[in-house]
Amino acid sequence: MSPPAKYVLAGGGHSHALLLRTWAMHPKRRPKGLITLVSRHSTTLYSGMVPGLVAGLYRRQDLEINLRRLADQAGVAFLIAEITGLDRQRQVLLLAGRPPLNYDELSLNLGCITPVPNGNVGDQDGMAIKPLEPAISAVDQIDTDHSDDPVQLIGSGLAAIELAMALRHRWPTRKVQLQIKPGRLSPAFQKALAIAGVDVHQTIESSAAAKSPARLRLHCTGSRAPAWLAESGLEVDARGRVRTAPTLQALDNTDIFASGDCAVIDQDPRPASGVWAVRAAAPLTHNLEALCSNKPLKSWRPQRHALQLVGGFDSREEPTAWGLWGGIQIGPHPWIWRWKQRIDRQFMARFDQAPAMGSGPMDCRGCAAKLPAAPLEAALEAAGLKSLGSSPEDAASLGNDWLQSVDGFPALISDPWLNGRLTALHASSDLWACGASVDSAMAVITLPKTATALQQELLSQTLSGLRSAFESQGARLIGGHTLEARAEAPTPMSLGLQVSLSVNGKRPAHPWKKGGLRAGDQLLLSRPLGTGVLFAAAMAGAAEPEDLDHALAQMGTSQHPLVEQLQELISLEAEALPSCTDVTGFGLLGHLGEMLQTSSQSLQVVLDGSAVPALPGALKLLKAQYASSLAPANRRAWSLLDPSQDQPAKVILARSVSGFDPEDHQALLELLVDPQTCGPLLLGCSEAMADALLQADYTQWHRIGVVQ
Ligand SMILES: Cc1cc2nc3c(=O)[nH]c(=O)nc-3n(C[C@H](O)[C@H](O)[C@H](O)COP(=O)(O)OP(=O)(O)OC[C@H]3O[C@@H](n4cnc5c(N)ncnc54)[C@H](O)[C@@H]3O)c2cc1C
Repeated sequence: MSPPAKYVLAGGGHSHALLLRTWAMHPKRRPKGLITLVSRHSTTLYSGMVPGLVAGLYRRQDLEINLRRLADQAGVAFLIAEITGLDRQRQVLLLAGRPPLNYDELSLNLGCITPVPNGNVGDQDGMAIKPLEPAISAVDQIDTDHSDDPVQLIGSGLAAIELAMALRHRWPTRKVQLQIKPGRLSPAFQKALAIAGVDVHQTIESSAAAKSPARLRLHCTGSRAPAWLAESGLEVDARGRVRTAPTLQALDNTDIFASGDCAVIDQDPRPASGVWAVRAAAPLTHNLEALCSNKPLKSWRPQRHALQLVGGFDSREEPTAWGLWGGIQIGPHPWIWRWKQRIDRQFMARFDQAPAMGSGPMDCRGCAAKLPAAPLEAALEAAGLKSLGSSPEDAASLGNDWLQSVDGFPALISDPWLNGRLTALHASSDLWACGASVDSAMAVITLPKTATALQQELLSQTLSGLRSAFESQGARLIGGHTLEARAEAPTPMSLGLQVSLSVNGKRPAHPWKKGGLRAGDQLLLSRPLGTGVLFAAAMAGAAEPEDLDHALAQMGTSQHPLVEQLQELISLEAEALPSCTDVTGFGLLGHLGEMLQTSSQSLQVVLDGSAVPALPGALKLLKAQYASSLAPANRRAWSLLDPSQDQPAKVILARSVSGFDPEDHQALLELLVDPQTCGPLLLGCSEAMADALLQADYTQWHRIGVVQ
């Protein structure tokens, strides 16, 4: 058995998606080590159903393979990044905007790109069909366009023919033109395109289409592997595809595997097609597993021909399809379409069968891994430190010109770089809430128990993530310590990371206080809530990938510019200081309660429930009864909404929308106690300052209530 190694899966293509599925279903087969999937998006599209999507027969989610969920289920770390190169000498994969990834074994399943004239994509020369996502967005945009300009497809393959008929079906009145090389169209397709009303131009001049006006010009003109593969010095064919042995290992580099459209088996070359990417999954999985257990690798010989099913529409606009095998073509017939549809849907259903991450309810990570308020307060009191709990400012004054705070949590996500960045931003927000900027930080990083080479990789990724967050705000990481966990490492092992940070910043001349709310103050929130429930649902495989992407993009954005803007506004307007806190583990209501507790006793807050912003997907998940494991303890803050015998409620939940849906109301109550990682700043300020903040330059803020 080889020692645990660093495996990097580059690109979330069909082979890698199926490989992950196998490891999700059979965890014991997964090689020991740090396995990371890096891909451009959190989903990958199953191209066999793309023409159906374009025609309006499928919804986008019908053909999206959820890579993030699949990686979670397979115990594989997942990171979203654009791969920009490969340095074989240093054994690193280069990524845009973040540090390179070290590998011992690398597997490439990156697909291909469509070459377009002059190498431009998305300008007047037209749009490439691959990568698929921008091409589909370009098609979607035309739905709202009322011009009559035609759309043009350029290409002589089946994808161009299928897409021409799909676009015809989507836009019955818009002209659809197909420019195809002479002699490439079978009589059956010629007839079908004529019936559909697609305008076919048979010409060898590839620039002919560019001469006539078109609303969209879509190139389906073959495929090329990404140029950086050849630039890395790997042996490639004329299309830039990595030449491999039958074991799928690169001819000149046995530590690199390649499959799908970006690869070609030297002895059995096949045209780029999803069929081969799918079929390569089994030998690729076997060989990666065999390599790690020092077993012999297997050779794979793809069959000579593959069945191709091509969808279209008949004269009544009903879906139909053709079957092609070698040189034989049958159809069109509706039953071939039904057959194709069944095969495609069955393929996609395979990705829903994999188990959810772990079994039973799981403890939440990130800031939801905090101790609830009640035991914290009791412990502080027992230790004679009650004052720490009763006057809870976000950062402590060091008695001189400095403020200090400390924060941290068990890894929220399996990407160590992004996790480091999020922890740094989260810890910084304690100082921001005091109106201070971060000057320096020290870190204690607990690493999972594993081989030192893997710990080194996890540590360097984490440190780079911390640096990215601190340096962007002019702060420095000035020291720290590492520890090794004593418990067994989880899978993926990057979830065993734990980062704690102490942050220091210059005390502003007039620090903002948590207490200090005044009657008439407006309450503003700097960003939407909902990270707790989204990541709780993600562990059950229930959060939508685009909602998690949205949340992570928000969390990874530093809020220090908001503090700087606010300081500027205060000095310009000679305004009274705002009161401020950051919303973290106890949720909005818990932290608002702390503000009220440390302000004048007679104050009451009226919250406008309909103005409290939620991240996309959060309310839907709360309605479906998902909740962070810290939420039950946080619900004690609901008592602020209850009038006691002689006292009115401290917080009144008003709704400015008419109508009352109990389900919506309950979801809102849950949102108010949802624990936040990298949560919003909560500001109490004068009406004039609130108005200024809500103007053009500061539109991030949401006005959510008033103090009376
Ligand atoms: C309209 C259309 C219809 C098609 N229909 C069929 C069909 O019915 N049957 C069939 O067999 N074939 C079909 N094909 C061909 C098929 O799309 C490809 O052969 C197949 O997708 C190749 O699979 P793959 O696993 O190699 O890569 P892909 O499926 O292309 O996946 C590559 C993955 O890697 C990611 N990636 C790529 N580059 C980077 C990077 N630099 N950094 C980070 N991530 C990256 C991508 O985001 C993507 O998730 C069709 C093609 C088109 C355009």
